[in-house]
Amino acid sequence: MLKNDQLEEWDRENFFHPSTHLAEFARGNAPQRVIKTASGCRITDRDGSELLDAFAGLYCVNVGYGRQEIAEAIADQARELAYYHAYVGHGTEASITLSKMVLDRAPKGMSKVYYGLGGSDANTTNVKIVWYYNNVLGRPEKKKIISRWRGYHGSGLVNGSLTGLKLFHDKFDLPFDRFLHTEAPYYFRRDDLSQSEEQFTDHCVAELEAMIEREGADTIAAFIGEPVLGTGGIVPPPAGYWEKIQAVLDKHDILLIADEVVTGFGRLGSMFGSDHYGIRPDIITIAKGLTSAYAPLSGSIINDKVWQVLERGTDEFGAFGHGWTYSAHPIGAAAGVANLRLIDELNLVQNAGETGAYLNQALREAVGDHANVGDVRGEGMLCAVEFVEDRDDRRYFDASKTVAASVNAALLRRGVIGRAMPQGDIIGFAPPFCLTRDDVDEIASKLKDSVREVLG
Ligand code: PLP
Repeated sequence: MLKNDQLEEWDRENFFHPSTHLAEFARGNAPQRVIKTASGCRITDRDGSELLDAFAGLYCVNVGYGRQEIAEAIADQARELAYYHAYVGHGTEASITLSKMVLDRAPKGMSKVYYGLGGSDANTTNVKIVWYYNNVLGRPEKKKIISRWRGYHGSGLVNGSLTGLKLFHDKFDLPFDRFLHTEAPYYFRRDDLSQSEEQFTDHCVAELEAMIEREGADTIAAFIGEPVLGTGGIVPPPAGYWEKIQAVLDKHDILLIADEVVTGFGRLGSMFGSDHYGIRPDIITIAKGLTSAYAPLSGSIINDKVWQVLERGTDEFGAFGHGWTYSAHPIGAAAGVANLRLIDELNLVQNAGETGAYLNQALREAVGDHANVGDVRGEGMLCAVEFVEDRDDRRYFDASKTVAASVNAALLRRGVIGRAMPQGDIIGFAPPFCLTRDDVDEIASKLKDSVREVLG
């Protein structure tokens, strides 16, 4: 192995890291960590420090690290056939098998799966499918897409426009035209504190209705949302939200894209978030949990209604002109097949639900009473703790105090990785599904100590 100092120097000199304070990193003021090995829920860095990864990488290593079954499947595929494309009807045993496995697990009414490499490109594919769909139907004006403030759908141009977080828009000239943002279903941050959850849901629905009215339903093609808001704060929806949103979309013939990049394949304790909340999507975005990040692979699952129109379109206009070189890459597909098998064999969706509930409860007990903890929330293996300066009148800390980042750093010093979410003083937890109750107890007690250290 390279000497530590040399690797650090090369890193700071040569590597353009994503989502990083570039100047601080180059100056050597921002942290640097080189990860060497990992097993289960624990990762080890090059200096030999072991950390409990309570965010599963970027909520993606769902089956946990070091799974030999997936590594073997990848190696076998690479030896047998490292690559062939999927254009004009080509496939591999892995990509065809994976498609069947995905559809077997998907909510009712889904018909086909298209593959990309990551959640961002899958959402770009979704927008193109929706635009194509309306062109085939002779509705060239019906093209705008509504997403929610605080939604996260990727950081490219089109998918970055869907995203509703300032950091991903400002200075990048986003969002593009045709992309609108409506109220985030974030009950804790409601303006009117006297509202019940149901009243807040009705407020969100009324905001959506007003936007559709203002823009004209004949200009709105689709609505996209994560079943549980993820990067925008890890926020389960308020009571009755999806049912009422769905009714509005149905009324105006607006397609629903469920972005299940985080929630797909078990994170909420159900195979899909759509089933968890009774959502009937037209398109589902999948990525992370599809391969548990053992290889890059994403997908767009299309329902029968949309598929029929796509088929009609190709009869009228010729081949569907959208593809990536690496669509359905055999190595990604082989990883996906092995990953989905492992999830079933180890009963990991059930563990995500049960241990996730235990994690939520443990976090509540550990820090819920602290004067600066405003909210502890979650669903399955996806939960968050939100900090406030004053609990009674729900006053937030000034962002410059970087409270969540400081608590998160204190937690890291104790050997646990959480994630300080990008907008607000929120620490998120999204561990691998193989997390045990002992792991939960460790996370909760170390979080409690970290909160005390930073906030007293
Ligand atoms: N959609 C959601 C809900 C996500 O959480 C993410 C990434 O975190 C994406 C899309 C983008 O996926 P990727 O980073 O693989 O492009």
